[in-house]
Amino acid sequence: METQVKLLKSFSVDDYERGILQGNRTILAKAITLIESNLPAHRETAQNLLTRLLPKTGRSIRIGITGVPGAGKSTFIESIGSMLCSLGYRVAVLAVDPSSTRTKGSILGDKTRMDSLSRNPYAFIRPSPTGGTLGGIACKTRESILLCEAACYDVILVETVGVGQSEVTVRSMVDFFLLILLTGAGDELQGMKKGVMELADAIIINKADGDNKIKAAATKAEYNRILHFLKPSTPGWISKAYTCSALEGEGIEEIWSEIKEFRQNTISSGFFHERRKKQKLDWMYSMVHEHLKSSFYNNPAVQNSIPEIEQSISKGLLTATMAAEQLLDIFENRTKGMALDGYSTQTD
Ligand code: GDP
Repeated sequence: METQVKLLKSFSVDDYERGILQGNRTILAKAITLIESNLPAHRETAQNLLTRLLPKTGRSIRIGITGVPGAGKSTFIESIGSMLCSLGYRVAVLAVDPSSTRTKGSILGDKTRMDSLSRNPYAFIRPSPTGGTLGGIACKTRESILLCEAACYDVILVETVGVGQSEVTVRSMVDFFLLILLTGAGDELQGMKKGVMELADAIIINKADGDNKIKAAATKAEYNRILHFLKPSTPGWISKAYTCSALEGEGIEEIWSEIKEFRQNTISSGFFHERRKKQKLDWMYSMVHEHLKSSFYNNPAVQNSIPEIEQSISKGLLTATMAAEQLLDIFENRTKGMALDGYSTQTD
């Protein structure tokens, strides 16, 4: 930690800005470390840097990728990432891994992943920020996307594990959302939430190779039938299923063509920029909500009153509505009092 602080101290906002605009990967990595830091001084420098870089952001295509562990996400990213680099694109890979908030290890970070892509000079790979809430991790990833765009990365791949709420979070920060599945659709379809499929702009049935090819084609047909009845993730776009073999690099070009077509269509219809605008507003409000929630629950007066109020509810002496109103009154009076005392509510 101390070395990290020292390293970060030796760079000014000008240094970061210059390095990033030159596409310097070492400085980009350090700038992301700055963004991930919770120290107030780092937060301030990070926000100054982001404000300066903002005019240079937004020009990439942002692609979210999800799937259960073992579905082949990292193999797929390695495959499509290497193909894109060979076509002259610069590719950044970021991750949102909420498992890192609960356990020390993270599902996405534990193994050696994307070995050849990580050595490609046109690629930049960054593991998920660790610690904090999903909201906190997401905020850091969103800011990292902006830094990568300023550093001239054309394609940003944001990977997440398909184990819960993180799919919705990643959907809210990308243009195109890809769900990677395997064959054995019968069982999976039963268990899979319709909601996750409704987030996808395309579904890939991976590992369509060897003996699995025929089964994968049947699974693809089955998903196409289901997608037909679901609400599209992007208005005006029909989400379809594809087969691919990430391992053998088959079907990857087709998926890239689909993504390019999606981009063209949504830019023409205006939805591409409309979605990005809405995503930025949603992001702002989600930060306001997070801040309000944490200042409410960390407020000492609220914390002191909660046991008694909970008991009153359990004993049937207070309705839930009355109890909520009492807690909010306590919070508001307390914060008003603090403001009068010359404190900001943030000190809570
Ligand atoms: P992740 O956990 O979703 O990132 O999955 P990985 O990319 O680590 O893949 C899990 C396992 O499936 C690894 O052993 C891969 O080699 C294998 N795998 C991934 N894609 C394919 C594929 O297209 N075909 C086959 N046969 N195996 C694959």
